[in-house]
Amino acid sequence: MKDQYQVVVIGGGIVGCSVLYHLTLRGMTDVALIEREELTAGSTWHAAGGFHAMNADTRIAALQKYTIGLYPQVEQESGQSAGLHMSGGMELAGSPERWHWLKSELQWLRTQDTDAYLLTPGEAVELVPIIDPTGLYGALFDPLEGNLDPNGATQAYAGAARKRGAEVIQHNRVLSLALEPSGEWRVETEQGDITAEHVVNAAGLWARKVGNMVGVDHPLVPMPHHYLVTAEVPQVAAIEGDMPAVTDLEGFTYLQKEGRGVLLGVYEQNPRHWKVEGADWDFGRTLFPEELDRIMPELSIGFRRFPVLQDIGIRRWVNGAFTFTPDGNPIVGPVDGIPNYWAACGCMAGISQCAGIGLAVANWIADGDPGYDVFGMDVGRFGPYATNDRYLRATTAQFYARRFVMAYPNEELPAGRPLKTTPCYDELLDAGARFTVNWGLEVPLYFAPSPGFEENDTLGRSNAEPIVGEEVAAVRTAAGAYEIAQYARYEVRGPDAEAWLDRLLACRLPAVGAIRLAPMLNEAGRLMGDLTVARLDDDRFWLTGSYYLQEWHPRWFHSKLPASGVTFTNITDDYMGFSVSGPASRAILGELTHDDVSSEGFGFLGVRRMDVGTARAVVGRISLTGELGYEIVVPSNRHRTLLHELREAGAPHGLRLIGDRAIDSLRLEKGYGIWSSEFRQDYTPAMTGLDRFVAFDKGNFVGADAARRERDAGAPAQRLVLLEVDATDADASADEGIWIGDRRVGFVTSGAYGHHVDMSLALAYLDTDVAESSPELTVFVVGEPRTARILPEIPYDPKGARLRDLTA
Ligand SMILES: Cc1cc2nc3c(=O)[nH]c(=O)nc-3n(C[C@H](O)[C@H](O)[C@H](O)COP(=O)(O)OP(=O)(O)OC[C@H]3O[C@@H](n4cnc5c(N)ncnc54)[C@H](O)[C@@H]3O)c2cc1C
Repeated sequence: MKDQYQVVVIGGGIVGCSVLYHLTLRGMTDVALIEREELTAGSTWHAAGGFHAMNADTRIAALQKYTIGLYPQVEQESGQSAGLHMSGGMELAGSPERWHWLKSELQWLRTQDTDAYLLTPGEAVELVPIIDPTGLYGALFDPLEGNLDPNGATQAYAGAARKRGAEVIQHNRVLSLALEPSGEWRVETEQGDITAEHVVNAAGLWARKVGNMVGVDHPLVPMPHHYLVTAEVPQVAAIEGDMPAVTDLEGFTYLQKEGRGVLLGVYEQNPRHWKVEGADWDFGRTLFPEELDRIMPELSIGFRRFPVLQDIGIRRWVNGAFTFTPDGNPIVGPVDGIPNYWAACGCMAGISQCAGIGLAVANWIADGDPGYDVFGMDVGRFGPYATNDRYLRATTAQFYARRFVMAYPNEELPAGRPLKTTPCYDELLDAGARFTVNWGLEVPLYFAPSPGFEENDTLGRSNAEPIVGEEVAAVRTAAGAYEIAQYARYEVRGPDAEAWLDRLLACRLPAVGAIRLAPMLNEAGRLMGDLTVARLDDDRFWLTGSYYLQEWHPRWFHSKLPASGVTFTNITDDYMGFSVSGPASRAILGELTHDDVSSEGFGFLGVRRMDVGTARAVVGRISLTGELGYEIVVPSNRHRTLLHELREAGAPHGLRLIGDRAIDSLRLEKGYGIWSSEFRQDYTPAMTGLDRFVAFDKGNFVGADAARRERDAGAPAQRLVLLEVDATDADASADEGIWIGDRRVGFVTSGAYGHHVDMSLALAYLDTDVAESSPELTVFVVGEPRTARILPEIPYDPKGARLRDLTA
């Protein structure tokens, strides 16, 4: 062991070893992995070793596919077998709804270039003869599944990394981490101190404790998990070669071939937590006694689905721990305010995800950017609220118990809610609000007129759509008020605020009293934000962005902040308000202010301080609905009063409270994109159409060179279009493939029913040659092929006359 390395990776499980290997792939060879005990001594040694590419997040799914594809290379480089079995795997459908859902998953897999296909119950039994097909509707077979030997795979990563120059130091616990004045880390270990430029926390079951060493609390907790391994099963032993893995979604179990028998694992509905603060330092290669009472309900279903197992002996029980996060995805990347500390933990599917994590971390350290849109596993996607013990227990238990439970797109899950509420919550609830959750905040989805209304969980359009339609109609004909507490706001002030923002934002900065749409790019010319920037004074700006990016965006801004001359403050919780839009919105605002709100006095994209009712407000003339509208923002302690005053002034004008669902319908009628759907980190200005807000000629700004290169290169490979879909009972949502015959020509980014224009609408990226030729397209909506066409113009108010108030 040396006393100095460029990077020290803490933890020798499959994730840490993959990170180490990927660092060497990026040419970093002055790197060491420090392991407390022996490699795999955490969760990895007892993992069942199964892998698959499925993930609800398509970007993570792509990284899982990358992980699976990399194993042969790591085996070859290291000379160490990972015990790879590319057996394929099937998911069983035990209900008609699940069967429908699997059909849509099939189309989703086709969009990911996976050759999956459907099986009849009989075909499933032919492949896995111990399945009892009673009650089965069919199965989905995915060839990109299998299993491996977790120990062999981990050793293979470590061996390949060693061959490329990395060091692996075992039996050496990291005791503490301290940031030196030089900006380097002093890593105190049992075998002596090390200085390192970067440290990576890949400490698995201990990752929360290692995070605490640098003052970070990561939202992850260990939970025990069971599987059993049987003695020989004659029908399985008779199969030459591999047998496909089976996931019985309605049965909460998974099964794979293990020697001449099988391994049967359970995701029980009654999970438990263990050592929420992290495993004890001396926790060894230890298994827990089996807890049969807790898992028996699901295990019994497993024995019914695979009845032959009732007569076969159990050779081994494994009840071991691994870590969960609130959404089940890992925690990866840099943490705001802690330089050169990298998270690579919270990974509950290490066999499927280790290479994706390693690739992202290595790229991030080498280039300052993960190279892919990895938001779904970015440590920055959670806020401080997520580490609260009660919240973390509730959400991780919910994720665990629902691992195989079917999720409906319109389903609202209860764990950890309500957590954050605005001062208007009770009043909105009384007004019929049904809520969704955004970064812990309760956000109205729609307002049900009758207290007894219950929305049905469905893959198609729900019974709430007529209510959404009424909210849309109110906005188009009168006015709607939408709570905008779920916008993040940042104040940028100081003598150098203008120069700093001018460099960070790709748009031209607005004059005092004006708002601009502000794309923000990284150095590679990819999007880092679709903000709006409002200039309140010469040296005072407000940025508005997505509520759930309140760790992610500040991390970016702080990384660019100069030592003096500019302050950047998150004021999201200090200011809230309502967006009032629709033809009557001016009259409503006019009743609450003496300011001139006429079109001449307060034009489109203006921003003003004015009294609104009893509050001093900041009002922007901007809306996401395509109508004349105002965003009225007040100090949070006036938010509730503002709601009263708006409702009182608005009632004679037909003002209605509206929620997120109406906004989606309204914005799609205008073809407006939003962050995480149409605008993402892996898209560029030209693809998204945001290039029209980029001030290419303004001089230097972050991403300018790349953006100019893109502009000069001509048309991008894909671009954003608005589609009309021939669908009457379900709408596209996201990630559905778009096809012409067998050619995949694009994918959907968001969809909704446009209530006013009476169309099923979808925003989508299409290959540019296709986008220009306007052919007939096929979109698979919940697995069913639907004809779709590009709309030649935006279906609602294409010239923007209503938004700009040019209709009079
Ligand atoms: C029963 C069971 C079955 C599973 N089956 C599957 C499966 O089929 N497929 C799948 O993808 N996943 C499965 N998993 C999950 C899988 O085991 C984990 O996702 C994976 O092992 C996580 O790897 P890791 O490297 O992040 O963490 P770990 O394997 O926990 O590695 C962390 C390492 O860090 C070391 N360490 C900690 N603190 C320090 C310190 N201070 N100094 C030095 N070293 C330190 C530890 O000793 C440990 O070796 C299963 C888990 C269980 C419990």
